[in-house]
Amino acid sequence: MVARYGSEVDLLDDWQRIHRARLRRRTDDVVCGDLVFLEPTQAAVTRRAKRHNQLSRRDGTHRLRTIAANIDRVWIVIAPQPEVPRFLVDRFLTGIVNLPARPALLVNKWDCIDPQRPSTFDALLENYRCLDLELLHVSAHTGYGLDRLRTAARGSSNILVGQSGVGKSSLIQSLLPREELRIGELGHSGEGRHTTTTARWYESEGGAWIDSPGVRDFTPEIGSATELARGFSDLAAHAGQCRFRDCTHQAEPGCAVRAAVANGELPARRLEAWHELLQEIVAGARVRPGDR
Ligand code: GDP
Ligand code: ZN
Repeated sequence: MVARYGSEVDLLDDWQRIHRARLRRRTDDVVCGDLVFLEPTQAAVTRRAKRHNQLSRRDGTHRLRTIAANIDRVWIVIAPQPEVPRFLVDRFLTGIVNLPARPALLVNKWDCIDPQRPSTFDALLENYRCLDLELLHVSAHTGYGLDRLRTAARGSSNILVGQSGVGKSSLIQSLLPREELRIGELGHSGEGRHTTTTARWYESEGGAWIDSPGVRDFTPEIGSATELARGFSDLAAHAGQCRFRDCTHQAEPGCAVRAAVANGELPARRLEAWHELLQEIVAGARVRPGDR
């Protein structure tokens, strides 16, 4: 499903043609990215396929609302400006792995980086060297690296996330053909203007992109220590050798994680991030028992 306009949706078929269709009561929960079945004579959506994941966020009343589905890869956009908050990448990585989707890092504003000079940025990226992360450098302004991004995105559905000001809207605009973006702003059934309130699916040579302000603003919630461990596979790879099974990698004797940090196998920042996020989970569980 491409986009939703109230009780109507735009669907994309295998030949890249768009069809306007009506939702039935049973299919009222479809979101952008859903695979649906169409009853062509009535232009009605009869069923939606099972999702392999979904992106949800809290609305004004703190209720979780699903805004997109079936996302293969999530690009965490960072840039030299605004500065990357401590643990932002770690938090996103964990949230994305738990969707589950494939995380990747996109460093935008490459035109502002002097490749000859080592920067704090290199130090930041060094923290994720033990993870099998895709990493691309791009510039929405100069177009640098965008072809590589298109190639990487081909054949999958992608979204961009990250803090405000890193260049997500600029990247989407540079990635997509102009007419695609215009369609995204308006409905096109000929009945005048329908603005999309939720996410929209854009598909071209450069892969499929799901985008909306709400998707870009996605900030992951990490619900449990189990989820946290999934996001820290580099750390978990050592944790099995800790003397205590429930080792918190703080002061326990025989901690293999701290040993890995000490001998340079694991970046110290990753252990710090793990502690920080674990503390948040513990604090959250205390404040909102049974909320998850
Ligand atoms: P968003 O909030 O993540 O959607 O970021 P925007 O796309 O609105 O961009 C924020 C600011 O960064 C704007 O002033 C853009 O012109 C600028 N910007 C975006 N991409 C680049 C880039 O590749 N290089 C430079 N120098 N500036 C960029
Ligand atoms: Zn340990």
